[in-house]
Amino acid sequence: MGSTTVGILALQGAFYEHVQLLKKAAASLSADNAGSSSQWEFIEVRTPQELERCDALVLPGGESTTISLVAARSNLLEPLRDFVKVHRKPTWGTCAGLILLAESANRTKKGGQELIGGLDVRVNRNHFGRQTESFEAPLDLPFLGEEQPPFPAVFIRAPIVEKILPHQEGEQVAEAQRDETVIAPSRQAEDETARQAMADSVEVLATLPGRAAKLASQGTHIDADKETGDIIAVRQGNVFGTSFHPELTDDARIHSWWLRQVEESVRRRHAKQRA
Ligand code: GLN
Repeated sequence: MGSTTVGILALQGAFYEHVQLLKKAAASLSADNAGSSSQWEFIEVRTPQELERCDALVLPGGESTTISLVAARSNLLEPLRDFVKVHRKPTWGTCAGLILLAESANRTKKGGQELIGGLDVRVNRNHFGRQTESFEAPLDLPFLGEEQPPFPAVFIRAPIVEKILPHQEGEQVAEAQRDETVIAPSRQAEDETARQAMADSVEVLATLPGRAAKLASQGTHIDADKETGDIIAVRQGNVFGTSFHPELTDDARIHSWWLRQVEESVRRRHAKQRA
């Protein structure tokens, strides 16, 4: 396989940290797999021309309102929507990035936030409230493989996925009726390959157990009956979102996992194009 270019949206927030961990992950992948000929290039994305070069994209944590505002001013908002929803290239959003990838976000004033969309979910921004601005919790992440040690997940004014939305053609109109909720505009996939890259259903990849959330909240009331816990990692086809910030640790396991997903997605696209 030739070289794969991964962009990191670098308008605001923790983009530099993602670049560092992606490089570490790429180095460990090639060490693990001496036969792999994957070449990675990681570039910071601030312009539509830079985005155009990318095969996959990371949206970092930071402040989603600021990121969307700067994206609109840099003429990047529409190209970002095209990237995720028309070309359907692999994309990963962490924290603020997850908010931007949601089709619906609550606790948002109309006009205060533009969404890219791509994940059929509603996020609740700042779910843990003011009293628990940030905390760290050891997480079991089954998608990383069996018998992996817990992942040190850092949550900072984190959103959670509070609802998985039914997949539908067009925008999430029912969501638009809700108070303080914004939705993403709809876009058509460019072709059948792109349509298939985004599965119809959202998979829940990880939850924060009620018990951990309660401990972490240090006294803030969180419904203890929530056996299922809060949804903090989801995937819909090749679009992936996490509530927490793997880029703020030195643990590159999620970055390595995601690069393997990107490899797979790019390989499938090339195979289809050749067929
Ligand atoms: N709650 C923040 C927002 O609305 C996200 C925080 C983060 O990325 N750490 O953008």
